[in-house]
Amino acid sequence: MSVTVNSDAGSEPVAMRDWLGTSWKMNKTVREAVTYADDLVAWAADSDVDATVCIFPAFTALSAVAQALARSTSPVPIQVGAQNMHWADAGSYTGEISPLMVRDAGAHAVEIGHFERRASFGETDATVNRKVKAALRHGLVALVCVGDSSSVRDFGVVNEFVGMQLKVALSGVSAASLQEVIVAYEPGWAIGAGGVGASTKEVALVHGHLRSVLVDLYGEAPAREVRIVYGGSVTRENVPDYAAVSDVDGLFVGRAAWDVSEFVNIIEAFCAARGPRSAPSQEVAVR
Ligand code: PEP
Repeated sequence: MSVTVNSDAGSEPVAMRDWLGTSWKMNKTVREAVTYADDLVAWAADSDVDATVCIFPAFTALSAVAQALARSTSPVPIQVGAQNMHWADAGSYTGEISPLMVRDAGAHAVEIGHFERRASFGETDATVNRKVKAALRHGLVALVCVGDSSSVRDFGVVNEFVGMQLKVALSGVSAASLQEVIVAYEPGWAIGAGGVGASTKEVALVHGHLRSVLVDLYGEAPAREVRIVYGGSVTRENVPDYAAVSDVDGLFVGRAAWDVSEFVNIIEAFCAARGPRSAPSQEVAVR
């Protein structure tokens, strides 16, 4: 379901489409990635789902996937994002990819601060913040990932933890840039093989808290424009449950979406569960 919101008193309303994304992590060759993208384009040609779709290939496939998606003539936006990037435009950072390079490869978005990057590659709240600001400066949508570990959950401080992650990630980000921010709540204990999806009650509580953090930072109207999506062991079966949770504006899917037909099933299940979009006459821009 799209929600029509006003960014500020007197400004034009903006349609906030639901958002369905998948990161392929370190999977798929260029050929496999392009085949997936081509299949998605073919599906979208006959689809009128009310959602923005975004896929996050490895860097090596970014450009080829962007070119494949550019062939889409469907009204369903299908975008491509990078799974990470450095914050600097250029420099002596061996092995890194800059925002300029991500843009040059055709990406629309960038995933920042995924749990695995924080846990295995030294990503901190401070580096996440630098990357978020760099992404926005370069016109990229910043998919900001926050998430608790199982020990944070056991200590009962999930809201405090993810709230701090979000506040630091958005430090120095203006309300005007918020429309280019998507927040993904992805608990570490829920993602990947062996993960168990968060309960809808947990998702409702955390998403509600993240929304309240945004309201505290930016005020009610801008905060309502930010999509908060859930990720962690999403499957076709549990999609309708998550789609019914308030403050869930989409899903970020890993393993279950690495097969394109399953991703399509998830997109369609989510959109079917959400129902028809609000009146087009109120909508002036689609993100
Ligand atoms: C993820 O790691 O971002 C993720 C959503 O993984 P999965 O869906 O495989 O749990």
